[in-house]
Order: sequence, then structure tokens, then C-alpha cells
Amino acid sequence: MEKEPFVDQEMCIGCGICVNNLPDVFHFTANGKAACFDPNGDTEEEIQLQAIDMCPVTCIHWK
Ligand code: SF4
Repeated sequence: MEKEPFVDQEMCIGCGICVNNLPDVFHFTANGKAACFDPNGDTEEEIQLQAIDMCPVTCIHWK
């Protein structure tokens, strides 16, 4: 995969949308924020639609 999603930990409010929609890509860290643990857990299209576009605070980005 060329692109990899990452979560801006400062902005994440821990709503759980990305973790619930794509549990093979995102999980919660000990501080209650989401993080990407497997960028290959789903397709770029699904990550865009189900996580990046859904995040209420727009804190998931491609790097
Ligand atoms: S959708 Fe956004 S705010 Fe919600 S847990 Fe995921 S990264 Fe955090």
C-alpha cells in the first residue's frame, strides 16, 4: 500500500467510528484515542469512506 492513514492524537475525541467501522485497521490506544495499527487491514477506498470521511473532527489523514 502506498498510502497509510494516521490519526492526529491531539484532535481525536475517541468517538469510536473508525474503530467500529474498520476494526482491522484502527484500534484504541491506552489513552482512549484511535490509532492505525494495520494500514493493510482494508482497502484505501474503504479507509477513505468508512474512516477518514466519517471522522467528526477530521483527524485521520493519509501520510
Ligand atoms: S473517527 Fe476520528 S474522532 Fe472518532 S475515534 Fe476515529 S479518529 Fe478518533
